[in-house]
Amino acid sequence: MNTPIELWPADRFDINYRQPLPNLGQRLIGPTAGSFRVFIRNDLAGPWTDESDYYLRGLASIEKPALIYEVEGHDVQIFILEEEAEAFEAVRKNRLQCLEAGDVHGGLGSDSLALPEDVVYNLDQLPHTDYSRKFLLLNRCNWQDEWTSQLRGETFISASAQTIAGDVIFFKAHNNCFFRINLTHEWSHFLQKPTSAFDAPNRHPEEWSAFECAVDIEWRLWMPPDSEYALKAYNEHWAVIGQEFLHWLGRYSVDVTKNAPLRTFFWSRAFALELREIPVHRRPVCFNHLLARALLSERTVREYAERELDDIKNGKGTVYEAHAKAGTVERLLAMVKEVEGYLEAELEHSFLESLFASEFATILSADSLICGPPPQTQEPHVGKAA
Ligand SMILES: [Zn+2]
Repeated sequence: MNTPIELWPADRFDINYRQPLPNLGQRLIGPTAGSFRVFIRNDLAGPWTDESDYYLRGLASIEKPALIYEVEGHDVQIFILEEEAEAFEAVRKNRLQCLEAGDVHGGLGSDSLALPEDVVYNLDQLPHTDYSRKFLLLNRCNWQDEWTSQLRGETFISASAQTIAGDVIFFKAHNNCFFRINLTHEWSHFLQKPTSAFDAPNRHPEEWSAFECAVDIEWRLWMPPDSEYALKAYNEHWAVIGQEFLHWLGRYSVDVTKNAPLRTFFWSRAFALELREIPVHRRPVCFNHLLARALLSERTVREYAERELDDIKNGKGTVYEAHAKAGTVERLLAMVKEVEGYLEAELEHSFLESLFASEFATILSADSLICGPPPQTQEPHVGKAA
């Protein structure tokens, strides 16, 4: 399959997997009673000398009673605090009433708290759910926000976070498009490290160190839409590149791949290494889409790297030159070759064909337009001129 990269159709990468709303709750098991440890803010006022000062004097860690849901098809638990259960139940009731009244959206929207059942189909669309076993939905803001706001010098409100234990917490999450984005953002963090702990080891150290280098090279040339956040730290940059790559709309994935080929490739290579480990029977519904996206990244970066190498050989100066001389591009090509073959071998042939089916038709008709009709054999002119 040697289709030029500019012809890869972005909308064919869309992930349109949705469960009918009334069915969502059917895959929840429970709830059973349990608990979850959260931090509670006391009355003491800041400012704080540092983060540990904030945690030591401003917060108390408390084990709160919680309701725990299990999910059919995933080895995870979804928690809500008992003291907040009423708020979730009210949303659920309202939604069911809307559905009964024929409103297919079931009261969904930006003012509707995300329920445990809303986590279910978002989990289905993750590459896998092995990273985090516990998801907590809170109807309150992140206790960390006050410290982050002091640090940044402006109000900061976070939507979700990883914990040191490797759990995921959503803060006042609404069942809108950002819910899935935030979930994939956290998944992307887990692809780098198993927990948010500062000294947690990297899962893919080679790809991570190459990614940091790629950020240095590329960031001035193109930034993802969530750019302010991506510039906070290398690990946030990694998570944002991942959230774009995993976006349900193919054009976001294609955009990040084409505009940030190095960053996307190193992220995607770590990602592809994870995909290989998923047993066939546990592959997600969008496995082919994800594989095809990784394949596009592999192709894009190869084209880019080969062009850069040619430029260097021909003595053309580029912004990448210094890095390229240091061996970045050579290393990159070596890494591309290492994963070569896997993605295509695993991608279902029928999916690859469907990806390009109409494009081939377009290319053929475009060619015939450019070249005109095939030449006709000219008969010798025997008649008389009129
Ligand atoms: Zn983050």
